[in-house]
Order: sequence, then C-alpha cells, then structure tokens
Amino acid sequence: AAGGGGGKEKKKETQLGLSTTKAEDFSKWYQEIVVASELISYYDVSGCYILRPWAFAMWEVVQRWFDDHIKALGVQNAYFPLFITEDVLNTEKDHVEGFAPEVAWVTRSGNTPMEKPIAIRPTSETAMYPYFAQWIRSHRDLPLRLNQWTNVVRWEFKYPTPFIRSREFLWQEGHTAFATKEEADEEVLAILDLYRRVYEDLLAVPVTKGRKSTKEQFAGALYTTTVEAFIPETGRGIQGATSHCLGQNFSRMFGIEFETEERTKAHAWQNSWGLTTRTLGVMVMTHSDDKGLVLPPRVAPKQVVIIPIPKSNSAPEVQQAMFDRAAQLRKALEAKGVRVETDLRANYTPGWKYNHWEMRGVPLRVELGPRDMENEVVVVARRDTGVKETVSWDDLAARVPLLLDTVQSELLEAARERYDSCVETATTWDDFMAALDRKHMVMAPWADEAEVEEDVKKRSATAEAMGAKTLCLPFAQPPLPAGAKCFASGKPAKNWALWGRSY
Ligand code: AMP
Repeated sequence: AAGGGGGKEKKKETQLGLSTTKAEDFSKWYQEIVVASELISYYDVSGCYILRPWAFAMWEVVQRWFDDHIKALGVQNAYFPLFITEDVLNTEKDHVEGFAPEVAWVTRSGNTPMEKPIAIRPTSETAMYPYFAQWIRSHRDLPLRLNQWTNVVRWEFKYPTPFIRSREFLWQEGHTAFATKEEADEEVLAILDLYRRVYEDLLAVPVTKGRKSTKEQFAGALYTTTVEAFIPETGRGIQGATSHCLGQNFSRMFGIEFETEERTKAHAWQNSWGLTTRTLGVMVMTHSDDKGLVLPPRVAPKQVVIIPIPKSNSAPEVQQAMFDRAAQLRKALEAKGVRVETDLRANYTPGWKYNHWEMRGVPLRVELGPRDMENEVVVVARRDTGVKETVSWDDLAARVPLLLDTVQSELLEAARERYDSCVETATTWDDFMAALDRKHMVMAPWADEAEVEEDVKKRSATAEAMGAKTLCLPFAQPPLPAGAKCFASGKPAKNWALWGRSY
C-alpha cells in the first residue's frame, strides 16, 4: 500500500495526538484518550459523562452477551422505578448505613417542597423487595430471578473518573430469591463466572475471583464475591463486578416469607449482583497506548476499517475501481460476520485516516493502494502490534476472522503476563510495604479481622500514596504453612488475602 505523505499531513497528525504518554502521566493520558477517541464527553454536572456512540456500542455488546447468558440460566428482565421512599430505603439498617452518604434526594417539585423527600436509587434492593414479599407466598413461587438494565446514582465523594467511578452509571442488577441457601450459593458463583468471562473473554482483561473481606463486602450482604482487575501503571486494583449472597438479611426485614413443602414458614435466601460501565474503563486502561484505544475485537464496534489510497492525480474511473473493490471486500467480510467500516472521505489524507482509526482502536486496518490494485492484494495492519501482512483479495474473508481471534487472545495473554508480574507474596510488614512501593499487589497471610484491615490501611498510607486494603480473598488459596502468622498483626493467619492500593 502507498502511504500518503508530506508536511501538511504531519501537522494534522499531531492535532489528533495526546499531550502526554501512558507511562509519563497515566491519569492525564486516560482523561484525554477517552475524549479524543470519542468514547465520552465531559458533562457540566461533575462526575457525570456522556457516553457517545463508540462507547455505547461496546456497552451494547457486553449487554447482549450477558443478557443472553442470564436468560439461559432462567433469569427474566423487569423494570422497577427510579425513585425510592425514605421509609423503604431505611428498612435494612446495615444497607442504609452503607449507602446513606451517597444517596441523592428529590426534595422539591417545581418550587414546592416535597412533603417527603424521595431517594434516587443507588441500587434497587429496597425498591424491589417489598414487592418480592407480595409475590412470594409459597415454595412454588421460588426461585424468583429478576434482572434490570438501568442507571443508578451514587453521589460519590471520591474523585470521579470516566467509566471507573461516575455519579450516575449504567449497569445490570440481578435480584433473586431461593428456597435454600445451597441454590443461592450456587447462583452467586455462576454469575461471578459470567462476570469473569465478560472481563476475560470479551474485554481481554484478566481478573482474580475471590471473596471480599467483611470490611469490604456489600452493605447488608451475608458475603460478597468479586472479580478484581489491576492497573499496573498506577499500581491500583479495581473491583470489576460483584455477586452478593444477601442471606436472609433482607427477607427478614422485608418479610419475604414462604410456605415450604412441609407447610412450615421460611424466609427466602437472596442474592444481588451487578456489572457496570466501569468494565469499559478497565478495558481502555488495560490495552490502550500512546496512539489511542486498542479494542479487543469481540467488543470493537468496528473490527476492520478499509482505507483505499488513490493517487491524488488518478483518473476518476481508476479511483472508482478502487472504491468498488473496497465495497466488494467489505461485503465479503460482512458475510463472515465481521463489523467493517470503509473510509472513503475525500477531504482527509490517508495518514490522517490512519491516525483517526488508530485513535479509535479499530483492531485491523486494510489498506488498498494503486499497487495493491495491480497485484489483487491488500495490506492488513494490526492495531495492537503494528504488524502488517499482505493478503490476496480472495483470502481476505477467511484470513480476517482468524486474525481477529489471534488479536483477541494475544491481548489477553499480554495483559495476563503484566497482571501476573504484579503479584508478589509477602509474609512480613516490610516486604509487604516494599511490594506496594513497587506498585504491586501482595498476597499475604492474614488474621481475617476487620480491625487488622483498618490498621493496615492506616499504616500503609504514605505522603504519596493511599493506604492498601484487601482486594479479595482469592478462591485459589495456596496452602497456608503450619503456624503461619498474619503479616500485619502477628496473630495466627486464617487465610491468604490479596492486598493492594485500589480505585
Ligand atoms: P455494588 O452494588 O456496590 O456491589 O456495585 C456493583 C459494581 O458496580 C461494583 O463491583 C463496581 O464494579 C461497580 N461500581 C461501583 N461504584 C461505581 C461507580 N461509581 N461507577 C461505576 N461503577 C461502579
């Protein structure tokens, strides 16, 4: 393929660029890249962001995949209102204590103060469960397994970050009720595995599955399970998604009671589970580079961009032949289910277009220049590695799906290597702090006590960096040596915990 060239183009290229690099100033790089790639626009309410079509298309891919999988498990979609009365919100004490500081309230309609302020849902346990109590009477009404795709509002005090921590975000929230704890336990793990697959299989982001410590678990839950991701550049862990077993805490408070087969009364066992638009932020942070986004093919809104490169002085019919060929190649790719864009815009140079689509992270670029027209080939360039190969027109529709699979799996492999190289084991406080200073996660034996976690958080905070907390107690527990002591308290260790600074 012939590239465009010249000084004029160079200037335009830098206009598309970012003012810093991922390595130099990660947080600035991230804030710029999400805007330059047209994923989001900043909005005039702090902590709220506009999701532009490029981002929303990826959210739709995640949605469709997850929605299909939960429906296969027997979950049904429903919709509950945005508003929650104060009385209902206050029903479960631990729950309301956890959420109270972040709840946004409607206090006025027009100029008239509301008789009673109404809460905007931060999560919908309390909106839904009074009605679960009405609908569930007998063991025959169980299991009840509902999900909704909605927005929620949490007026967070922590510094907002696009996708990662916003005040309004999109998510799904599953809410289910079972007759037995065993069924609830089983679902918690089935959902958690779907969350792992969203991260690993769709977004090519490695995660660790585990249980949250008591201190970090969901307000009102019996226990919380999580998939934890990690951002090497900042040395911070991030909670990817959570699947909670609520036990009978809420069913007792909301009176979700049923008659068993033995005609006794019992409270339902409940779960709730949620996955948010945070997923996209973790994906951007994990793969993208100094030229822009790098999108895993499975979620990329466009997987291939075809860019014809006519000579500037070429005859109209020569150019038309090239555009026709581009259209045919596109058709052949689309017949294989590949999502294709063709960039025929006349007012941009090829170099500008390359930068534009690199910024937007399209996994493969197909270049079609004058010499390629003669040879009946195209040049295919990978966004992730920059590696190019020449492919004949006839082979393209067979080659591209294979290449997309390769890109997808190599992105995950590369991310997993980086992830694994950021996990250290420490058994003493000094080793623990040294690992944190290297921006790593730390596997350490600990006493599994909330006070110890509180103490670690305080003691590990430095002038430059926040304190560390447990990210999770990984399900994959290495054997604990006999007599192992907690790295922080010296008390007998109960398990291994994965610690880190976090988002
Ligand atoms: P929770 O209902 O608190 O368990 O939240 C479910 C999931 O939402 C968490 O596991 C996070 O991954 C994600 N999350 C929490 N807060 C935010 C936020 N402010 N913005 C985006 N995602 C969030």
